[in-house]
Order: sequence, then C-alpha cells, then structure tokens
Amino acid sequence: MRFAHRVEPDSHFRLSDIDTNDHGPFSGKDDPEVARQLADDLARLGGLQERLYAEQRQALLVVLQAMDTGGKDGVLRRVVGPLDSRGVHVASFKAPSSDELAHDYLWRAHARAPRRGDIVFFNRSQYEDVLVVRVLDLVEKARLKRRYAHLVDFERMLADEGTRVIKIFLHISREEQKKRLQERLDDPTKRWKFELADLEMRQHWGAFQEAYEEALRKTSTTTAPWYVVPADRKWYRDVCVARLLVETLEDMNPQFPPGKLGDPSRIVIPD
Ligand code: AMP
Ligand code: MG
Repeated sequence: MRFAHRVEPDSHFRLSDIDTNDHGPFSGKDDPEVARQLADDLARLGGLQERLYAEQRQALLVVLQAMDTGGKDGVLRRVVGPLDSRGVHVASFKAPSSDELAHDYLWRAHARAPRRGDIVFFNRSQYEDVLVVRVLDLVEKARLKRRYAHLVDFERMLADEGTRVIKIFLHISREEQKKRLQERLDDPTKRWKFELADLEMRQHWGAFQEAYEEALRKTSTTTAPWYVVPADRKWYRDVCVARLLVETLEDMNPQFPPGKLGDPSRIVIPD
C-alpha cells in the first residue's frame, strides 16, 4: 500500500496531474482508520529505526521540500518528532551564508549527510539551488542547467557508499497556501512564522511550480526517487510520509547485529 505518488525516471510527469487535496482511501480526518494507520506506522518506524541504528551499516537521507507553509515543519513535528533522537537528525538549510557561498553548492549539504546508522531529514536542501536560485535568477542559466546532473551523481555516490536517498515534495495548492498564510497573520501564536518574503515568493508561484516540475523530472531516479505527497490535508500528508518511511526502511531491512562477544552464555556477570 502506498499513498505518495512516485515520480518515474524520465517521465513526462506533471505536477498539475496530482490532486493536492487527495485523501486516499480515507473518508476524512475523523475516519478511525487514519489514527490507526498513523499509530501503526509510527510504531513500525520506531522499531525499524532502532534496528538501523544498531546495525550501523546503512544510512537514510530524506530530502523534504515544499512551498512556504507546505508543511515541512508539521511533518518533522508529527512524524519525525516521535522517533528516538539518538540516530535521527534534522538539518535545515536557509539562504547560504557568505562562507557557504564561497564553496560549491553541494558542500553544505554533503557535510550534513547521515553517518551510518542514522536517518537525517533535510528541511530544504541542495535542491534550493535549482529552485529558489532558478526562480530568482541567482546564477547564470548555463551553470544552473548543469546542476541537475550533479544532483543525480551526488545521490548515486551516496547510494553506492551505503546511504539510501528519498526525496519528498509536499504538494499544496495556491489556495491552501493563501489560507495558511492568513492563519499565520490572524493567530498570534503563529504570527512569528509570517515573513513578508513569503508574499514575495508567492508572487512567483507559477515559476516555482515549473522549477519543481523540472527538478522532479530530471532528478527522480531508481536509486533516489522523488515522491509527491498531496499536502492540503495535514493528516493525510502525515499518513503518507509515515507510510513512505516505513516502506523505505522495510526495503533497507536493517538487522540487529549478532553482538561482539560470540556466545553470550559463556559470559558470567559477577555478583
Ligand atoms: P524557511 O524554510 O522558512 O526557514 O526559509 C528559508 C529560506 O532560505 C527560504 O526562503 C529559502 O528559499 C532560502 N534558501 C534556502 N536555500 C537557499 C539557497 N541555496 N539559496 C537561496 N536561498 C535559499
Ligand atoms: Mg518560512
């Protein structure tokens, strides 16, 4: 069972074909199956993550991308938050510092890729360097065009060296973004999240959708696929992401290691 939409390599994938308001097989937020599904998957996720950490052989990198208000923080709180903080980390990428800008654009991302045994969630990522950078025209076109191949090669290298990579786009509609921005303005406990820059980015909505579409088409590979998660409904978004993480980790199939001591029955713990 899979809820997220996987972008097939070399496909003529169109973002507009995916319904941001999708709710899968569930009737709505209060469908008892929703809570059950999420609770089951969170429990599974906990067990799989512990095995990954104990095994210390493989790593998982999850790239999270979305438009502003798309729900990255919500996913991190509701799906990633319950996991054991030992072995699970979040790396957030803001506009690059002068030090970061003095390096190649993959430098800061590579530095935060997971160690063996760990899961790292990228809250924004190296993909901003073909998204916001493209929309705001921050580098020359020819230079930007070459980056898609770098991104694919970088991920292949990570995979060859033991790091599974999946990439998730939380897909919201323009109307839903308007609603969420308005909520941020109206609710004093959310107002701190509101930035005027978000309004400026919103003006580029169409250009961002095109930039996402091209990035997803050009960089979804069998080793490091992109998944589109319908995200207008926060509960469905969470269920989809949890399911995807479970399926990915089940496929990685981490195992508890045998232990370093040989036959444990030979060891006597002194009184
Ligand atoms: P937030 O996710 O709300 O904390 O915002 C982070 C901001 O950093 C967003 O406006 C991103 O567009 C911006 N950002 C992230 N990476 C880059 C990048 N490589 N170049 C320019 N801006 C970036
Ligand atoms: Mg923001």
